[in-house]
Amino acid sequence: MLTMTTCDVQSYRSAVSALAMQHLMLTAAMVVLFVCTKSYVNQLRRQHARCTVVIIGAGPVGLTSLIIASRNPHVNRIVVYEEASRLALVNRAHQIAFDRKTVLFLKGLDVDFDNMEGFFEKNIFYTRIGIFLEYLLNKLPRVPVPLDLKMETKFTRERVQEVETLEGRKVVLACDGSTGEAARLLGLSDEFEQNSCKAYGATASMDRADQCCVPMAERRYHGLIFDLAAYGIDTSDMQDASGFTLKLFGSSRYRYMSLAIPKSESMLVKNMRLILDRSMMRNIFIKCFNSCRASSESELNETWALRNMKFSPRLFDIKLFQRRETVAYFEDADMFVCAEGEAARCYNFQTGLDVNMALKGLMTLHGMLEMAACSQTEYDVMSAMVMKARDSAGISKVYLSKGLPQSIFSTSFS
Ligand SMILES: Cc1cc2nc3c(=O)[nH]c(=O)nc-3n(C[C@H](O)[C@H](O)[C@H](O)COP(=O)(O)OP(=O)(O)OC[C@H]3O[C@@H](n4cnc5c(N)ncnc54)[C@H](O)[C@@H]3O)c2cc1C
Repeated sequence: MLTMTTCDVQSYRSAVSALAMQHLMLTAAMVVLFVCTKSYVNQLRRQHARCTVVIIGAGPVGLTSLIIASRNPHVNRIVVYEEASRLALVNRAHQIAFDRKTVLFLKGLDVDFDNMEGFFEKNIFYTRIGIFLEYLLNKLPRVPVPLDLKMETKFTRERVQEVETLEGRKVVLACDGSTGEAARLLGLSDEFEQNSCKAYGATASMDRADQCCVPMAERRYHGLIFDLAAYGIDTSDMQDASGFTLKLFGSSRYRYMSLAIPKSESMLVKNMRLILDRSMMRNIFIKCFNSCRASSESELNETWALRNMKFSPRLFDIKLFQRRETVAYFEDADMFVCAEGEAARCYNFQTGLDVNMALKGLMTLHGMLEMAACSQTEYDVMSAMVMKARDSAGISKVYLSKGLPQSIFSTSFS
C-alpha cells in the first residue's frame, strides 16, 4: 500500500507548480515570439508595400499631388494623363492666390516662393496659374520615381481599362477640375451635395486684351448699398443693414468682381434676386469697378462693358458643391480611386481663393497613400477610405462655416 507523508505531498506540489510555471513561461515566450515575428513581418511588408499612383489632370491639384506622391516611399511609379499641352498649361492666364496656410503647406513640399514670379501682400501670395504650373513642371525631371507624363492625352472611358490592368495596387486621383468626368468614369458616384452658404452673390469677369497678365492684390470693400430708385427698386429698408461686400481680384488683364451679401429678405436683395435686368446689374458692376479700381486702372465705360464684361444677370444663392463619394476601392482591379481638388468640391461663385479649397484635400494625401499602399485586410482598406472620406467631409464643413466669411466677408486677411 502506497502511503504519502506530508513531506512527499509538499514536494509533489512544488514539482507540479514548477512544471506549471515552466509551461506558463514557455507559453508567454511563444506569445512574445509570435507577436514579435508578426510585427516584424508586418513591418517588412509595410516597408516593401508599393503602389502605382495615376493622376488625371495636371492643374494645380494634379501637379501638387504628383510632388506629394513622388516623395512617398511606397509609390513606385506615377502616371499622369493631361488633355492639354504643356504650352497650354503654362499659358493659363488667370490669377491664383494662396493663403498663409497653403503657402506653408507648399513650402513644406519645397516650393520656393522666392523663385517664383508673383508677390506677397498681407500673407497672401499672388501669381498667375501658368507660372505656378510651369514651376511644378520644371521640378518633374528631378522626381525620384519613374514618371509617365502623358500630355495631350484625354482620359476617356477607353483609358479606364488601361489603368485597371496596370500591375499591382493602384491609387487613382481624379484631379480634372469642376467639370471633370474621370471620377465618374472610374466608378465614383456622380452625386453632389449642395450646401447653401447662406449668402447671395453675383460675379463679373472682364478680359482686357490690351493689358498684360500682371497679378494684382485683391481688394475688398464692405457695406456697399446701391441706389436703384431709377429701376423702380426701393432701397430704403437697406439703410441700417450691413450692405454688400465687393471683392475685386485677378490679374491686370483678367479682372473679376464678386459681389456678395448674407441672405436677407430686404426689398433690395429680393428685387436683385428676382428681377432679371441686365442693364441694372451691368451698371452696378461698372459703378463698383469705377469706385474701387486701383489708381493704375482706367475707368470702365458702358460701351466697353457691353462688349467685354460677362456677369451674372441677378443675385444667386451661393452654394458649395461636395461630391458625395470622394473615395472608393475596387477589389477586382486592386484600385483605390479618390477625387481631389475641384473634382471633389467647389463653389458656384468665384472667391479668388478658390484654389486653396482645391488644395486642402492634399494635406492628408501622404497618409492616404501610405495607408492605401500598406493595407492588407478589409479592415485596412476600410480605414484608409474612412480617413479620406472624413477628411473630405471635414473640409466642406470648415468651408461652410468659415470659407465664405473668410474669403469674402471678413475685413481682415488670414
Ligand atoms: C476663370 C477662372 C478664374 C479664376 N480665378 C482665380 C483667382 O483669381 N484666384 C484663385 O485663387 N483661384 C482662381 N480660380 C480658381 C482656380 O483656378 C481653381 O481653384 C484651380 O485651378 C482648381 O485646380 P484643379 O487642379 O482642381 O482643377 P483645374 O485647374 O481645373 O485642372 C484640371 C486639369 O485637368 C485637365 N483635364 C480635365 N479633364 C481631363 C481629362 N478627361 N483627361 C485629362 N485631363 C483632363 C484639365 O486640362 C486641367 O489641366 C479661377 C478659376 C477660373 C476658371
